[in-house]
Amino acid sequence: MSKLYGGIEGGGTKFVCAVGSGPQDIRAEIRIPTTTPEETLGRAIAFFRGQEKLAALGVACFGPLDPNLASPAFGQILATPKAGWTGADVAGALRSALNLPVAFDTDVNGAALAEARWGAGQGCDPVLYLTVGTGIGGGALVNGKLLHGLLHPEMGHIPLPRDPARDPFPGICPFHEDCFEGLAAGPALERRWGQKAENLPPEHPAWKLEAEYIALALSSYILTLAPQKIILGGGVGSAPHLLPLVRRSVQGWLNGYVQSPLVTQSIENYIVLPALGSRAGVLGALALAAHR
Ligand code: ADP
Ligand code: ZN
Repeated sequence: MSKLYGGIEGGGTKFVCAVGSGPQDIRAEIRIPTTTPEETLGRAIAFFRGQEKLAALGVACFGPLDPNLASPAFGQILATPKAGWTGADVAGALRSALNLPVAFDTDVNGAALAEARWGAGQGCDPVLYLTVGTGIGGGALVNGKLLHGLLHPEMGHIPLPRDPARDPFPGICPFHEDCFEGLAAGPALERRWGQKAENLPPEHPAWKLEAEYIALALSSYILTLAPQKIILGGGVGSAPHLLPLVRRSVQGWLNGYVQSPLVTQSIENYIVLPALGSRAGVLGALALAAHR
């Protein structure tokens, strides 16, 4: 019999809490609006107290956060624009209230783990999961472990070349202006083109530019991490007409240099949509609990 775990997908607008052992076995689930840490975590704790005995709890959370077990700030949210959450000890509050071991990591590391275990990344290592949504973030499973170190990767904030003649939009990252997230996350598209990304028709020039920025970033990750699978998620990233443009642009930029048939011949099996879809987050939390 497989062990039962608790999982929390901690997002900026909602916390999804679930109990189960995997995608085919979710026994209970609730959604809690993200308000203050006290109220939100209090409701999550009440939910888990009403469940069967759990082996561990996993939290896949918005960041920035401290995922390093050896650090004094392990389990906390670091400086965030999300009001009230800077310094919130998420893992500590859950561990002491529920008396359970708590695994704590970024939402994208959780999604990478869940996709590697149950989804599009099965049998691959490294697996890279990139979300392009309200923000941009990446998580990676490398040699069987989630990539940490100096805190966690911040793949959304890498510098990208921008040609001001072609793209005069200066970017909206409060730290870097025209980093990847500042140029290519959903709010940047909305600001640049004056309408929400989901309302931009597939033939709009926005998509070619967007695909090129994503492809530049993916090319950098391919050259540095050598992933065996890249999973592109998030509201913008999983727009279906975007993916073929991204694949072609990656092939164009790499120009045959990375001599893997996955890149040169069957890139449609290499850069893919999440197999777990919108379930990647909460399943990522369960996978974190099981992976501890
Ligand atoms: P979050 O990143 O907040 O968890 P999402 O991944 O859904 O949530 O990203 C939200 C962003 O994605 C918004 O900027 C929204 O405009 C954009 N978006 C949502 N759905 C689509 C779609 N079908 N096509 C393109 N963009 C979308
Ligand atoms: Zn930035």
